[in-house]
Amino acid sequence: MALTFSRAPDSIAAPFIRTASVPLGPVLDPVECDSKLPQRVDVVIVGGGIIGVCAALFLARRGVSVALCEKGAIGGEQSSRNWGWCRTIGRDLRELPLAMESLRLWGGMNALTEAETGFRPAGIAYLCDDAKELAQYETWLGNAQDRCRDYQHIARILTGSALDPVAPGATRRYAGALHAPGDGRAEPQKAAPAIASAARRHGAAILTGCAVRGLDLAAGQVAGVVTERGRIACSTVVLAGGAWSRLFCSTLGVTLPQLKVRSSVLRTNPIAGGPETALWATGFGIRRRLDGGFTIANGHTTWADIVPDSFRFFFRFLPVMKMEWTSLRFRIGKRFVEEWSEQSQLAPDRPTVFERVRVLDPEPDTALSVGALAAVAKTFPALQGATVAQHWAGLIDVTPDAVPVISPVDSVPGFFIATGFSGHGFGIGPGAGRLVADLVSGDTPVADPSSFRLSRFLDGSRIQLESGF
Ligand SMILES: Cc1cc2nc3c(=O)[nH]c(=O)nc-3n(C[C@H](O)[C@H](O)[C@H](O)COP(=O)(O)OP(=O)(O)OC[C@H]3O[C@@H](n4cnc5c(N)ncnc54)[C@H](O)[C@@H]3O)c2cc1C
Repeated sequence: MALTFSRAPDSIAAPFIRTASVPLGPVLDPVECDSKLPQRVDVVIVGGGIIGVCAALFLARRGVSVALCEKGAIGGEQSSRNWGWCRTIGRDLRELPLAMESLRLWGGMNALTEAETGFRPAGIAYLCDDAKELAQYETWLGNAQDRCRDYQHIARILTGSALDPVAPGATRRYAGALHAPGDGRAEPQKAAPAIASAARRHGAAILTGCAVRGLDLAAGQVAGVVTERGRIACSTVVLAGGAWSRLFCSTLGVTLPQLKVRSSVLRTNPIAGGPETALWATGFGIRRRLDGGFTIANGHTTWADIVPDSFRFFFRFLPVMKMEWTSLRFRIGKRFVEEWSEQSQLAPDRPTVFERVRVLDPEPDTALSVGALAAVAKTFPALQGATVAQHWAGLIDVTPDAVPVISPVDSVPGFFIATGFSGHGFGIGPGAGRLVADLVSGDTPVADPSSFRLSRFLDGSRIQLESGF
């Protein structure tokens, strides 16, 4: 079989924003890819983000024949643009068992992939300004421990001098923190490529620059996929398409309520000192990078473009919008027109929008990220000399209850969805990929999948928001 190195077309070779003052930053680690389309496999995975590659790895390790089709580059969208936090703390309690399993899997991921994913169990803490905030985290911790007996020793509340090792040299006193010493961080630009390469060593075909235009159905069941490079016969398809999943589902008449928000990030050049624990605080989120710099963002503000789906799904998203109201900024711009026209660019026999937009590369709100860096430097003087190496942004796909869909689609036998990770799918990716492999293979699921079923949005059930706070 002829091999090529995954190299996106020139237009997407550098999927990150560059400006005159910001030099080209790290690119995704390379992935050796397959140039030849297999004629038939058991399972086709649509999307090579963290969810798709983890599903491919766990399926391939079970001897299932897999082809993973990625329209752009492995990890090119959300999975390389995130903060790299692998956390159990602060999760919606429905996700907690899967988050704990993911942490266990991350711990063995470098060995499993025989590569560097950047995973380090360096701890994560949420710093609290006042007693009210601390009480919320105490409530979350109590609820988490009630829900999962095994969670007893994973997270704790810190106050007073116990905070010092977590926030060394902080110029201000925090009321306390929710801290999980074993939660960790991984490198988004390394992890998905490393896992894809491992899946390939286990026999999965990894196809980049290979958009899936749609499903091929026979008597209503999955019989294959139509890609831009030809057809692959299969009896099972897993859609792990991130922000594109709703559009893909619409070609099958399946309604997946999903919207997108834009979040901006910066990374600094390497710098000595500063916190090793990843920290969330008013005004900033920060985590140490493997290259010695920091990834920093203001996680309290995200942009929501008003698009046709904003109106379609308005009432479904109303509860979560009310909850997140203070952190959302709305704008109407060219994305409205772009998304309006997407529906007309979906046909199996000609290039689709999936080929036209190889990598979603939204414009970052640099002022927001620079503000976060300033807030960090005020709290941690060690970062006062930090210089910005790169800015970027990502479009986060969200569901109405901010919990993913990991589920078969009852109306299309053979079709599964694993998407809607609502801004926290990187850390939970390994567990989610394992759960996908269980559902597809009919094995005992590693975690209860009932909270993740698609039908929760279809059967008129009340949207459940369960942050656990
Ligand atoms: C700024 C930011 C910060 C974040 N921070 C964190 C964090 O610290 N921790 C955390 O856990 N999560 C975080 N997240 C969320 C996390 O990145 C996502 O939840 C996760 O990466 C989603 O993975 P995915 O595989 O579902 O989607 P993606 O990574 O978006 O991958 C989907 C892939 O599918 C491909 N695709 C779509 N349609 C087709 C098609 N028709 N044919 C072929 N390919 C297709 C796309 O090209 C894409 O590569 C953050 C996200 C952002 C943007």
